[in-house]
Amino acid sequence: MPAISFSGEPSRGPFWVQILKKWKSQTVRSPRVRPLKVGDKVLLYWKQRVPKDKKPVHLIAKTTITQVKLVLYKEFACNDSFAKKDGFKDHVELQEWFGDPETYGNENYVVITWSKFLLVPVGNLKIAERYLKAMRKRRARTKDNVLDGKEVRIVRAAIETPRERLCIDGILFTGFRRGELVHMTEDWISRGKIHVPSEIPCDCWECRNTLYRTVKRNGKHIKEVKKPAGVWMPKTEAGARGIPLNVLSRELFDWYFKDHHAIRELVPCTRSVYYTIKTIESRIKDQLTHELIPHGLRGVYASRLAEKKTSPYKLMEIMGWDDIKTAMSYVALFGPSEKAEGLTIESFVNV
Ligand SMILES: [Zn+2]
Repeated sequence: MPAISFSGEPSRGPFWVQILKKWKSQTVRSPRVRPLKVGDKVLLYWKQRVPKDKKPVHLIAKTTITQVKLVLYKEFACNDSFAKKDGFKDHVELQEWFGDPETYGNENYVVITWSKFLLVPVGNLKIAERYLKAMRKRRARTKDNVLDGKEVRIVRAAIETPRERLCIDGILFTGFRRGELVHMTEDWISRGKIHVPSEIPCDCWECRNTLYRTVKRNGKHIKEVKKPAGVWMPKTEAGARGIPLNVLSRELFDWYFKDHHAIRELVPCTRSVYYTIKTIESRIKDQLTHELIPHGLRGVYASRLAEKKTSPYKLMEIMGWDDIKTAMSYVALFGPSEKAEGLTIESFVNV
């Protein structure tokens, strides 16, 4: 029996989930040597060649082909309802997969449509539901924290002291975690990047007393490992990374490191970051719809990167996440959009 294998994971969820939920009812393929015909029974697989123990499902469903149509890319490149049937959010997302229609518009494709399922392996739908639930939760959580452009402007206008500037802009322009901001020294900056080290000696109160760090795998908190007292380490292994400097972060650190060597001279510990930010919040609370917390500012940075077409993988690297799913949910939520075309980190100040 002929088979069709799927592997795509656009923003609405992986294709196997979308097929089972009947959101995706067609696929666009390059013409086959032995073309499928209407009435053929086919097996739909999820990543057919990947070993079964390395993926959530193998056989997605068995079904009958109801339509096979030869089309040119330009005929469907700008069609939103077509894009939805194919599993994409809209035609913009579809074009990211198929390329610029100006260039590739005359490529040949076959649109294959299927009818209701003849067979779905037991348990598949349950796994799909669980997957979607986890995805919705992750999106809700992400969205909860992140300030919108108007709020960013309000918060920045409320900055009154150098310490406040350091706490707000220091996270907003770099995506730092609190601990990273506090432990930053002048020598982290080199060759156009901020290099977060994997460990440094530190005798601050928190590093002397915090003896554990969390270890996560695939987004699951798996254990706490012991870290030596008197050493600072990023929260996760992936936290040691290079963050590209932008015009704003360069300006901020030029200003600060002119008279200082370490952030700790002005902001002694992670709690002081928190309380400084909370003090600002107390002055403008009635103008904000989101809670003002350090992680919300970090989220703004991530959302801006997502908007300007940073791939999930790059985003994961820059943010120091050890889980690609976090990056994928940011990309799904915040971008890339046509509106954000040409947007830069610098537009923080002008949003
Ligand atoms: Zn420390």
